[in-house]
Amino acid sequence: MDHLLVWSETFAADAIVVPAALQLSEGADELRRWGPARRLCAVAFDHLEQRIAEALTPPSDFARASALACSCPHCRDLAAFLADPVRKVWTFKAAEAHCSHVESLAIPWIASLRSQ
Ligand SMILES: [Zn+2]
Repeated sequence: MDHLLVWSETFAADAIVVPAALQLSEGADELRRWGPARRLCAVAFDHLEQRIAEALTPPSDFARASALACSCPHCRDLAAFLADPVRKVWTFKAAEAHCSHVESLAIPWIASLRSQ
C-alpha cells in the first residue's frame, strides 16, 4: 500500500486505485476485512470525496482530435465539428443509411477514446 501511495503518478487514483478498491469491495467478506484492502478502499474513498468536492467547469476549448477513416461529406462535417473549439453539440439529420454510416465510424472511435 505504501508503495502505491508513494508512486501516485504510476498508480493513478482514477485509473487504478478506485477500480481496484471497487473490485475488492465486491469480493468476499474475508477479503474486504483484510487490512490492506480496507486501507486501499479508504484511500479510494478519500480520493472520490476530493474529486466530488471539485468545482465543475466546462472546458475552455471543445475541440477534439479525430481520426475518422472516411472523408465523405458527412464525416467531414463531423470532423469539422470535432475540430471546432466553440461548438458543444453536433446535430446530424440525414437518411438512415447516412446516419448508420457515420455511427459505424464514430461509435468505435468514441469507444476508443473512453478506454484511454
Ligand atoms: Zn463517411
